[in-house]
Amino acid sequence: NAVLQVRNLTKVYGNARTGVQATALKGLNLTVERGDFVSIMGPSGSGKSTLLNLLAGLDTASSGEIWVQGQNMASMRQNDLALFRRRNLGFVFQDFNLLDTLTLGENIALPLSLDGKKNQEIRPAVLKVMSFLGINEYLNRYPYEVSGGQQQRAAVARAVVHNPSLLLADEPTGNLDSASSRALLELFQRLNQTIGTTILMVTHDPLSASYSRRVVSIKDGQVHSELQRSADQQAF
Ligand code: ADP
Ligand code: ADP
Repeated sequence: NAVLQVRNLTKVYGNARTGVQATALKGLNLTVERGDFVSIMGPSGSGKSTLLNLLAGLDTASSGEIWVQGQNMASMRQNDLALFRRRNLGFVFQDFNLLDTLTLGENIALPLSLDGKKNQEIRPAVLKVMSFLGINEYLNRYPYEVSGGQQQRAAVARAVVHNPSLLLADEPTGNLDSASSRALLELFQRLNQTIGTTILMVTHDPLSASYSRRVVSIKDGQVHSELQRSADQQAF
């Protein structure tokens, strides 16, 4: 029951002026099962950002396939694809990416309002996810009024409020101090274990990776090695 299947994914960047090419992904294969919590690790330049950009639809692959929930992204029309991604994926970035002119509650409501949901449906969903993540008292606060850790929790709330099939996180603790990082990773574990959220997290930090169930190391654009943890080896 795979949420994500990446098959033989290749990305070659070309520089039209110099003619120099860089192969960022070289036939990468990856399967993420429903309910899994996977870390992608790898040195700088190994292709992590490229992989996430392709999954997010920010760039197109040179070859290979990306299947989400049994649907081949390449075979979908542009409009359907945007809607499909919005409904099925949630994103958390290193730098939070909250909108400064909106309160935390309004930021978190965005995926639902963009999807045309009504206010009487949006409000309880926002309150529910905020209390799950321990930030309900900041409903009417603006991002600059709360700490980095609270902003990142709001970003996580926005990423999961619509129950996506897959949560993608790009170095989510990169801008957090170590206490806030641990708190965030514990929240990821709680989302994964309690709600069953499937998580794919890119990180270069071994401590962050130790919170996941499975660690996939990539090197030179390919999967290099894998580590599957039993429940009692997971950090908490
Ligand atoms: P990571 O995120 O693991 O640091 P990247 O996906 O950013 O790795 O990069 C993988 C390889 O592709 C590197 O050699 C990088 O220089 C190259 N690369 C990434 N983005 C581009 C781009 N837009 N144009 C040309 N080369 C790129
Ligand atoms: P990260 O910190 O996530 O690994 P990088 O520093 O690898 O990000 O890359 C930052 C941005 O620059 C990305 O959008 C990536 O695609 C782009 N990039 C990386 N390497 C190159 C390159 N050699 N030429 C052009 N753009 C690149």
